[in-house]
Amino acid sequence: MKSTPHSSGPPKGLRGRAEKALAKPGRRIELMHEPDVQGLAHDLQVHEIELEMQNEELRRTQEAFEAARDRFADLYDFAPLPLLTLSEGGEVLEANLAAASLLALARKHLIHQKFSRFLTAEARDPFYSYCRQVLQSEIRLTGELTLRNAAGISLVARLEGIAAEDPGTHKRNCRLSLIDITERKEAERRRDLTSAVAALFAQKASISEYLHSVVQLVQQWSGCQALGIRLVNEQQQIPYAAWADFEPGFIELENRLSLQHDDCCCIRAIAQAAASSDTTLVMPHGSYRCDNARVFAEQMPPPEMARCYAACVKFGFASVAIVPIHCREGILGAIHLADRRTGQFPPGLVEFVETLTPLIGEAVRRFQAEAELAKHRDHLQELVAQRTRELEAANEQLRKEITHRKVAEETLLRTAEDLKRSNLDLEQFGYVASHDLQEPLRAVAGYVRLLEHRFPEKLDAKLREYIAGAADGATRMEGLITDLLTFSRLSTGGRRFVPVELGAPLNAALRNMQFSIRAAKAAVTSDPMPTLPVDESQMVQLFQNLIANALKFRSERPLEIHIGSRSEEGRWVFWVRDNGIGIEAQYFERIFQVFQRLHTRNKYPGTGIGLAICKKIVERHGGKIWVESQPGQGSTFYFSLPQPSA
Ligand code: ADP
Repeated sequence: MKSTPHSSGPPKGLRGRAEKALAKPGRRIELMHEPDVQGLAHDLQVHEIELEMQNEELRRTQEAFEAARDRFADLYDFAPLPLLTLSEGGEVLEANLAAASLLALARKHLIHQKFSRFLTAEARDPFYSYCRQVLQSEIRLTGELTLRNAAGISLVARLEGIAAEDPGTHKRNCRLSLIDITERKEAERRRDLTSAVAALFAQKASISEYLHSVVQLVQQWSGCQALGIRLVNEQQQIPYAAWADFEPGFIELENRLSLQHDDCCCIRAIAQAAASSDTTLVMPHGSYRCDNARVFAEQMPPPEMARCYAACVKFGFASVAIVPIHCREGILGAIHLADRRTGQFPPGLVEFVETLTPLIGEAVRRFQAEAELAKHRDHLQELVAQRTRELEAANEQLRKEITHRKVAEETLLRTAEDLKRSNLDLEQFGYVASHDLQEPLRAVAGYVRLLEHRFPEKLDAKLREYIAGAADGATRMEGLITDLLTFSRLSTGGRRFVPVELGAPLNAALRNMQFSIRAAKAAVTSDPMPTLPVDESQMVQLFQNLIANALKFRSERPLEIHIGSRSEEGRWVFWVRDNGIGIEAQYFERIFQVFQRLHTRNKYPGTGIGLAICKKIVERHGGKIWVESQPGQGSTFYFSLPQPSA
């Protein structure tokens, strides 16, 4: 270093500060005799001071550097973000406290560890390939990694990596930050499972398809070794409606479980009837959860254990969870998770499965309702088909009957026409016969009378008797013929019906018979008569015949005859009541037939046509005739006539 002369102005910088320091009392070394040496000594002193000051500066810089390094180390150590530096070979070179905590290992044990110890077999290749990319790249690269920390907990981390050169070795290392995204990932998985289960209802056609898919999804999601869905059936059993990876023997055994007769955790979970020993198993929402079924069974009180089915323990399942399936109506069954490894179903997992069960329960309910509906629809269709078949058969039968009836009607019509024709013929014949018979009869009667009048002297008593017999026979025959003529004229010779107050024909009949009535000393009374459309002359005949019979068949008692009428159910009923000899019930029908008489002519004269005429008149008017009588008490002859408005 070159010295600077004193005269060259006030020195600047370090030298100036050194000279100032030298000027202070006690610092200057006095060399009086040799001026050059004095100058040199001065310069030396200045240099010394300069050096001292430089050292001081260096020390301060050193101190500042160390403080900064410590601050950086603190920042690195206490940064909340887990940070790691890995060598190219995967050795942990640096790690902060957050990284140590994430990997659950003290930092001193973490340094120089192979990072591969935290990687699952599947994760290794992708991770090292990622690290190689980072080492070759100049920019920051992101990635994702599933790792298992020293505590055995599985984690998902988001990676940010950048290559950094080691100043000492000049080797490139991999600086990594790991963000724990396990919870977010788990939330995503849960959300995905919930959506998948929700979507299944619309995708599946039957309850068994649906439940089978639910089993697959939940098993895949939970990673459990066996899983099944049990549903309560009508017999109060809880067979598996769908299952995966339970042994057939297990299913066979468990399918026999009855809610009423057996005992096991599944039954208690579905019936929500916890036993005293279940306290450690039951979760707040009624699910059952066990980390080690064998240990639990061993701790159970022997009487309870004796009752318990415990198929899970027998088949070697350690972890068991039973989650009841709820729907609006209650519990339909349960999801049964089982695994031979212990502690597979932590509370969080079971709680999440609990959130799925209303979804599953509702779907099951709807499938069951649809099945029920389909059953009713099928039943209804079967009923409709059956009813249609019955109707078709009935129609066929009806068609046959109609055809049959048509044939019968045609036959009837033909028969009626034949009958009408034959009746007409008969009436015609009767009329002609009776009319033509009158002629020879009159001749016989005339000649008999002639015999009587012309040869009175020649007639002895015997002959007179014979002639009287012949005349009487002729008279009776005339009566018979007249009656027959009347009878045969009734249908053909009748008049049109006109409204007639029936009191008129009744009075006419009474007038016609006034002498006979008087002779019989009969007391005749009558009710008021209605007005009806009738053939009036036939009504006179009707009343006359009935009253004549009452007069004829009178008894010893004074004769009372009453002609009555009343309206009933769309018709008028009339009657002629007497207190005469009466009729036995067995003859009630017969007496209305032609020529039917109950007495000899000697006792009661007559032809036996009177009532037959009455019957024909009444029937021609659309009515009926009948008799009520008590022998010895009297008879009442009724006849009805239709009421026009009806
Ligand atoms: P007839 O009067 O000419 O004998 P009907 O046809 O009028 O014929 O009567 C038939 C039979 O009915 C009568 O013979 C009689 O035996 C019985 N009969 C009719 N009306 C009466 C009556 N009012 N009381 C008792 N018997 C009667």
